[in-house]
Amino acid sequence: MKIESVRGMNDLLPEASAKWHRVESAARRTFAAFGYREVRTPIIESTELFVRSVGETTDIVEKETYTFTDRNGKSLTLRPEGTAGIVRAYIESNRHTVEPVSKWFYVGPMYRHERPQKGRYREFFQIGAEAFGSDDPWIDAEQLALVAEILAAVKTPGVELRLNSLGCATCRPLYRATLTRFLDGVADRLCGDCQRRSATNPLRTLDCKNPGCIEATASAPTTIEVLCDACRIHFAGVQAGLADSGVSFVLEPRIVRGLDYYTHTTFEFVATLGDVGAQNTVCGGGRYDGLVAALGGPAVPGVGFAFGIERLVSLIADDDADKQTPLIFFATMGDAAARFAHRALATLRRTSIAAECDYGTKSLKAQLRRAGALGAIFVAIVGDTEVGRNVVQLKNMASGEQTEVDVSSGLDALRARLTDTAHL
Ligand code: AMP
Repeated sequence: MKIESVRGMNDLLPEASAKWHRVESAARRTFAAFGYREVRTPIIESTELFVRSVGETTDIVEKETYTFTDRNGKSLTLRPEGTAGIVRAYIESNRHTVEPVSKWFYVGPMYRHERPQKGRYREFFQIGAEAFGSDDPWIDAEQLALVAEILAAVKTPGVELRLNSLGCATCRPLYRATLTRFLDGVADRLCGDCQRRSATNPLRTLDCKNPGCIEATASAPTTIEVLCDACRIHFAGVQAGLADSGVSFVLEPRIVRGLDYYTHTTFEFVATLGDVGAQNTVCGGGRYDGLVAALGGPAVPGVGFAFGIERLVSLIADDDADKQTPLIFFATMGDAAARFAHRALATLRRTSIAAECDYGTKSLKAQLRRAGALGAIFVAIVGDTEVGRNVVQLKNMASGEQTEVDVSSGLDALRARLTDTAHL
């Protein structure tokens, strides 16, 4: 019986991986420019970590985690998101004693047992960042500018930044109470999940996708109306920072985010163009000033974001630069020519020149066909005569022009022909 991949989990095949590389390298370059450094944490963590950070009553922890018991009877979970593990690592490494502000990023797979559909998978990859140690609104704005920069670098038009503030420990309870009162009044129009959430996690009713719930909560009070003075000042600071960075945004009071730990700034980058389907949120994040302390660390504020690589990749166009084509393909006739080509390949590849040959004994015609299929820019044709005279017949595949190149004193002359910009 054929074994298939697990539902909701995808293979990334070579044709698709170039776009991923483009996104990842744009992100790495941008992170470096903004002073963020990479951290890698394990994919598996103690279940308790996510229960305490993501939140017991969130959809993620209630319904979506891959949780299992290991051979010692310990409950472990495949990480459904990146922040919890990063915060754990931050605390465990006592990082706050090393530097006042830590700016970290990560790239890796996350696991959520959601209903798979376009843009929503059970294994998906995120690129994310966290900044610990400062509650300065400029650091929030800087992160948003960082995301905007990555989006611009990979050319994704039509992605809109939607911004909100969820308040803090002072004003959030007041908002919760106001919202719960409002929800009680419209309870009969809410879906079953939202009726339950009204009591356990009322803010989540605002991002329910059910049309009935959207309509019923259309006139719900917003957090922005009840922000305390400190939150109002912080939120104004974030908006000023965005203006300084030249990043445009819209205010969106419904952005409450799926995780429990957010305070102050919350945001999403949403794709408004193209065939993105229902899963149009490319990036989400916000501030979580209480999370580090809640997980047993120092009272250190934090702010972070994560974007889904699959969703971002689905928005970007093909680029010729994604094609991985050999610069030179050796087509050979006979054993001596093949050995000659193998030595040349070894030398050229050592200097990072993409050089290819065929495998097994094939006709010259078949080898040239393969060179064409691979998109080789040059083909070096080598037979017994060429080996005897220490030359190759170098054919420029675009112009068809063929010249003999003498390699008797090494490959420098050949290399010079290959890197000659004339062919590019
Ligand atoms: P979240 O951690 O839920 O805030 O998600 C942050 C980003 O990760 C989203 O904006 C998506 O781009 C991506 N993402 C979240 N869940 C999935 C999923 N199941 N499949 C693919 N991408 C996802």
